[in-house]
Amino acid sequence: MECTGTFEGVYMGKKLSTLGEFGVIDIISRDLHPRHSWVKTGIGDDCAVLDIGGGLSLLVTTDMLIERVHFLPQKITPYQLGWKALAVNVSDIAAMGGEPKAAFLALGLLPTLNEVFVHELKRGLIACADEFQVDLLGGDTVTAPTEVTVCLTVLGTAPADQVVRRAGAKPGDLIWLGGVVGDSTAGLHLLLDKPGNVPESEREQLVRAHLEPQPQVELGRWLAANSLATAMIDVSDGVLQDLWHVCDQSGVGAKVDADKLPVSPAARQFASSVGLDARDWALAGGEDYVLLFCTPPEKRDEVLATCPGSITQKPTKIGRITAERQLRVCFDGVWSERAPSGYDAFKKK
Ligand code: ADP
Ligand code: MG
Repeated sequence: MECTGTFEGVYMGKKLSTLGEFGVIDIISRDLHPRHSWVKTGIGDDCAVLDIGGGLSLLVTTDMLIERVHFLPQKITPYQLGWKALAVNVSDIAAMGGEPKAAFLALGLLPTLNEVFVHELKRGLIACADEFQVDLLGGDTVTAPTEVTVCLTVLGTAPADQVVRRAGAKPGDLIWLGGVVGDSTAGLHLLLDKPGNVPESEREQLVRAHLEPQPQVELGRWLAANSLATAMIDVSDGVLQDLWHVCDQSGVGAKVDADKLPVSPAARQFASSVGLDARDWALAGGEDYVLLFCTPPEKRDEVLATCPGSITQKPTKIGRITAERQLRVCFDGVWSERAPSGYDAFKKK
């Protein structure tokens, strides 16, 4: 067996803090060629897409939450952790237009934890599983020396001809958001006791957005079933970064009107109380888990008029896809080019 290099890297390589999360994924995914013909989409989308016959695609996604990186034990209940760990995965199934079906739970737990933690984690996870019709079918349990780790793998299905990918956006397409963005970052600021004022009722709305995200499965399914979306992603790392993934995969650019972003009055008020702009939280904050999708311009009225009443948050048009491979953002009427900044696992802001 060839054995070169060390964990520290004795060679002249870049540190991951420079390379960034997507540089790492690039190393891992480069020159991989799936060998089985059932693979329709591999690394690079919200889910892998596998052809399972009968006109159906199997969608597979995995996401991990680690203590002190993704959550602070004093700031989230075990119930909320269970909900969130499943919800963020369900959101990736929604982003392909699929229905979640099955989950596998891998846990790294400290031996010093109390069994009540496990009961409560399960209660939150099953509440989310009940809401989105997911069966928990397996997993793994190991000891973790210092940090709790919760990793979910979720399987879903969609009619093969309805799967919506990140690739597919065309110049002229409209860009939409399926719900409010920025609340989650506002909630995180509140949880971290950062300065700022917001009424108690609105505080709860913002904190819940961060701790108990609501994946938009029904919206994704409706868009897919009605062939409305040319491309779709869920906003986990901020609107700009996730939109840029769509642009990258589609070979296009985008212009976004930040003044049109669906930002809640609560987030707006909280941000302005500390001299910040909630539109920045929306653009680069992340963890909102709403769908960002593109439609041909002629579908505009159909999206607005036929969106089922059960989908309580109506999509908001925020911009257009362009042929130029750049991101342009309009703030208070002024357009400028923007880097696709957002959350990166390794780069510190
Ligand atoms: P999302 O935000 O939708 O969960 P990510 O940005 O985490 O997606 O990942 C982008 C793509 O890279 C996905 O297709 C994901 O499955 C893949 N990916 C991420 N990390 C790894 C890894 N360590 N090994 C293989 N594929 C990975
Ligand atoms: Mg995603």
